[in-house]
Amino acid sequence: MLTPASILSTTALLSLTMILVLGSLLRTGMPGVREWFAANLAVVGALLLLGLRGIAPDFISIVVANTLLALAAAGYYAGCARFLGRPPHLPRLTAGVVLLILALLTWRYINDSIPMRVLATTMFSSIVCVAVAVLLLRHRPAGRRRYNYWFAAGLALVFALCQAVRGLYFILLYSPSDPLMLNSSWNMVLLIIGAVIMPTMTMAAVMMIHDAMLEVAEDATNHDHLTGALSRKHLETLAREQIVRAGKSGRSLSLLIIDLDHFKHINDTHGHAGGDTVLREFVRMTRSSLRDSDALGRMGGEEFAVLLPDTDTVGALRIAERLREQAKMQRVAGTFGECSYSISAGVATWRAGETFDHLSMRADRALYTAKSAGRNRVLPDDGVATTETMHATS
Ligand code: GH3
Ligand code: MG
Ligand code: MG
Repeated sequence: MLTPASILSTTALLSLTMILVLGSLLRTGMPGVREWFAANLAVVGALLLLGLRGIAPDFISIVVANTLLALAAAGYYAGCARFLGRPPHLPRLTAGVVLLILALLTWRYINDSIPMRVLATTMFSSIVCVAVAVLLLRHRPAGRRRYNYWFAAGLALVFALCQAVRGLYFILLYSPSDPLMLNSSWNMVLLIIGAVIMPTMTMAAVMMIHDAMLEVAEDATNHDHLTGALSRKHLETLAREQIVRAGKSGRSLSLLIIDLDHFKHINDTHGHAGGDTVLREFVRMTRSSLRDSDALGRMGGEEFAVLLPDTDTVGALRIAERLREQAKMQRVAGTFGECSYSISAGVATWRAGETFDHLSMRADRALYTAKSAGRNRVLPDDGVATTETMHATS
C-alpha cells in the first residue's frame, strides 16, 4: 500500500541516485554542480530525519528535517544561479530559511498546527520553484537551444503550483477530527509530486549541464585553440552556407587568404612563443577591424581566411589593404621583446556555380602571386577558370 513512508523512501533512493549522477559531474568543474550535489545530500538527510517521526524528538523530525528541505531548495536555486553566472542572492535565501524555521517553531511549540506547518513549507518551496523558473527563463544562455531551459522552468512552475495547492488543501480541508485526511488519495498525489521535485529538477539540471558541456565541446571544435579564430572546418562549413545564400540572393561574396610574411624568421628571431603572440595579435587586430558578419578562420600555420559576405572585389580589396596597413603598423610586444610583421593576401570573389574549393584555390593563387611579387601586398585573382575546371576541383 502507498504510504507516506514508502513515498519518502522512494524519494530517498531517487535522490541517492541523483547524488551519484551529480558526483560523476563534479569533476567537470561546471558552476552550480556542487550546489545541486549538496541540495540532494540535504534532501536525503531530511528524509532520514522525517522517517524518524515518533522515534526522535519532534525538533529533529519536524524542525530540523524541514529546515534541511528548505536548505535543499535554496541550494538548488543557488546552483541554478551559479550555473547561469548570476548572483545566488544568499542573504535573501538565508532570510527565507530563517523565516521558515520561525514558522515551524511557532506552529509546533507555540500553537501546534499541522496545516500551518504544511502551508509554511509548501509556500517556501513554491516560491523557490517560481524563482528558479524566472531565473532560467530570464537568464538562459544566449545562442543555445531553448528546450532544456524551458523544460526545467516549466517543471518548476508545475511544481510551484502543486505545492501551493497542497498548502491550501491543508488549510481549507484539514480537520484534527479526521486524521485519515493525511492518508487521503489527494494528499498522497500531492505528497508524491512534492517528493519528486528535487530528483526531477536535478534531472533537468543534468540536461542543462550536458548542454553546457556540449557548448564547450562545440566551441573547441569550431575554434582554433591558439588564436581563437574559427577552425578551418568551421570556416569551410560557414563558407558553403554563405555560397548557397549568395546563389539564392545574387549578392556578392568574397574570400581573402592571408599569410604572414617571413614567419619562420619571426620564430627564429623571437622564439616560438614570440611567433604565437604575433599570431594572436594579428587575429585580435583583424577581428576588431571586421564586421560581425565577416568570418575569420585559421587555415593552418600562419595562414588565415576571411569570408566577406555582401562584398564585391573592390570592397574586398579595400578591406584586405586596410588589414595589410594595420598589420604593418602593429608592434607586437611581449617577454620576447618587440617585433613587427607584414602580411600578404589574395582576394577572390565568388562566381555563380563555383564551389568553395575552387574559390579558395583562386584566392590562394592570388596570394602566391603576391608572395612572388615581393610580399606585404594584396592582389586580386585574375585567373579565368572555365566551368569544367571549376567543377573538376570540387
Ligand atoms: P612566407 O613569407 O613565404 O610565407 O614565409 P614564411 O616563413 O612565413 O613561411 P614558411 O611556410 O616557410 O614558414 C611558416 C612557419 O610558421 C613555419 C612554422 O614552424 C611556423 N608555424 C606554423 N604554425 C605555427 C604556430 O602555431 N606557432 C608558431 N610560433 N609558428 C608556427
Ligand atoms: Mg608565411
Ligand atoms: Mg604559410
